[in-house]
Amino acid sequence: MTARILLVDDIEMNLRVLEARLSAEYYDVITAMSGAEALEICRSQPIDLVLLDVMMPEMDGFEVCRQLKADPRTTYLPIVLITALDQPSDRLAGLEAGADDFLTKPVRDLPLFSRVRSLTRLKLVTDELRRRAETAINLVAEDHAGDGREALARLAFYGEDADETRRIQKYLKGAVRVEAVADAASLIAAAVNGAADAVLIDMAAKAVNPLRLVSQLRSKEASRLLPVLAIAAAEDDETAARALELGANDYIQRPLDRHELVARIRTQMRRKRNDERLRQSVEQTIELALSDSLTGLHNRRFFETHLATAVHRARTTGASFSVLIADIDHFKRVNDGWGHEAGDRVLKQFSARLSDCLRSSDLACRFGGEEFAILMMDADFDTALSIADRVRRSVCETPFDIGGELLDVTVSEGFAVFDAARDDAASLVRRADQALYAAKRGGRNRVGTAAAA
Ligand code: GH3
Ligand code: MG
Ligand code: MG
Repeated sequence: MTARILLVDDIEMNLRVLEARLSAEYYDVITAMSGAEALEICRSQPIDLVLLDVMMPEMDGFEVCRQLKADPRTTYLPIVLITALDQPSDRLAGLEAGADDFLTKPVRDLPLFSRVRSLTRLKLVTDELRRRAETAINLVAEDHAGDGREALARLAFYGEDADETRRIQKYLKGAVRVEAVADAASLIAAAVNGAADAVLIDMAAKAVNPLRLVSQLRSKEASRLLPVLAIAAAEDDETAARALELGANDYIQRPLDRHELVARIRTQMRRKRNDERLRQSVEQTIELALSDSLTGLHNRRFFETHLATAVHRARTTGASFSVLIADIDHFKRVNDGWGHEAGDRVLKQFSARLSDCLRSSDLACRFGGEEFAILMMDADFDTALSIADRVRRSVCETPFDIGGELLDVTVSEGFAVFDAARDDAASLVRRADQALYAAKRGGRNRVGTAAAA
């Protein structure tokens, strides 16, 4: 997939030059000549990266950047500011406006392409995460609430110049706790065991190969997403570009500027936190999609997936398992007599009792309504029968509390043991269901057993 890049500059000549260079590398390039036009484009079409000139009449690049970052629809869009002046104050203003990076005019090829590559690559990853998260949870606004002034984070730093180490510690004081590590192994250990929130590596290191260190951090699962920043010599675009290619998230060139250092490290840490939040929400989404909100048990979809796995396992290993279906008796009367809310309370308490009766290897699911299915691993006929009867007794022996009032409840159950020679998932459930109906017909509050497959 080629990335779509939006170029914004008020001078047409500048646009044409950059456009030609990016198009030659097969990027899809769109241009805008004012801040207003740029905002309009970003809000109406998919853009992967914005290269934004700072000095423009009417609305300058900082303002465009601020507005894009403030709008939930475009807040994730990576923005590179292009400034004519190599002024630290400009860089700082840019980073504070929320820019992900900046380039200085005249824009050289190496920094241009290395940044474009690393930012578009990063966006592909976060886009995917965001798509998944957005299906269930509107977390964009929540994410955006982070203001960048979070708790003191820990930075593991590898550098061989003691003076510079002290200087960095001083610069970051109050913002980030810098732990200077003595060798490559300690750096990797800190990154892998979670002792560091970000890593900073001096590319001038001699005792270790700093580029190799970057790629080692990227190759390990536990540090794959950890922010890695490099310190490169002034004008040494080559090394900086190599570091980015190997997976560093950002670099800082000497002479080190205190504000830039703080801003870049914070930006990376914020990005990591956002990614983590996205990831969590994806996990939550999965959890929600597979569980029943009233009872907290798994839902039918989960049951069916799990059942297919159990069938496969039983066929390959010969292990037995059973399916039990339980249906609360005359549940409609609970709703009709005491209200739907009372019905819900019974369902919740029933689920809790059910879970208490099961072994940790059993899986209880709400099949729908007042019907529950339990997958009992390694359960033969006798085991399944004794579990089913335990469930039955735990329901009928103690009345249910429906808000002050006590209510007698019973449950009917039916189960079937998987028969590897004749059953598939559907026939097993069908047999358990037939056993349940036999229990209902037989007078309820009992356990039915299935006919042979
Ligand atoms: P039987 O002994 O034959 O199973 O009779 P029953 O009344 O339990 O069975 P029926 O299927 O006729 O009624 C089930 C009722 O469960 C009907 C429906 O309104 C109610 N129900 C289904 N889901 C929920 C729920 O989430 N909450 C509540 N409160 N009631 C529910
Ligand atoms: Mg019922
Ligand atoms: Mg029913």
